[in-house]
Amino acid sequence: MLLKLGATVKVAPFLRSQFIQLIDKQKSMKELFNTDMRLSEHFTLKEMLVSSKAANHKPEPIPNIPLKCHITALQNLVDRTLEPLRLHLGLPIQVNSGYRCEMVNKLVGGVPTSQHLKGEAADITIPRSSRPFAHGTDEQAARLIYIYAKEYADYDQLILEHSGTSWWVHISCKIDYLRNRHEKLMIENGRTKNLD
Ligand SMILES: [Zn+2]
Repeated sequence: MLLKLGATVKVAPFLRSQFIQLIDKQKSMKELFNTDMRLSEHFTLKEMLVSSKAANHKPEPIPNIPLKCHITALQNLVDRTLEPLRLHLGLPIQVNSGYRCEMVNKLVGGVPTSQHLKGEAADITIPRSSRPFAHGTDEQAARLIYIYAKEYADYDQLILEHSGTSWWVHISCKIDYLRNRHEKLMIENGRTKNLD
């Protein structure tokens, strides 16, 4: 929990209305930053804020806290892209990196224009324990996601990425989704090419 409500406060009766307003405001802020908040049937806000590098950062983890505008963008990404993909794929989706604050983006070597900074992108795979028999490797899981995302998700950029033996799918959706470019790309060890 990122915000804490104060301990019990004794309030004079004439301040009661202001007090209720204050508590309502705090409750709405608490709700806004409640990372257990469900964005859809299968995705919570917490999943969209994960970053193993941020969590393992020394001497202290980087909190990676979104602003309200980023949460709105993440909600849009989930509604138009991740949840439809999840429903049609019929398998869990693991988000390895969703929203990134500037520090986290620098830490992972993201470009300064990354859509992760806006809450408009996620790097995803299928958890190992949930992969079908014929899609057990990182590459097979990423290619399966790519096929379903191309068909069933709204996206700005759908990128099949790999670096060495590590494979994942980067998928983004603009908050202004009518301007999505529907680009299908592959980034292979840093080189970009168009995909069908
Ligand atoms: Zn990405």
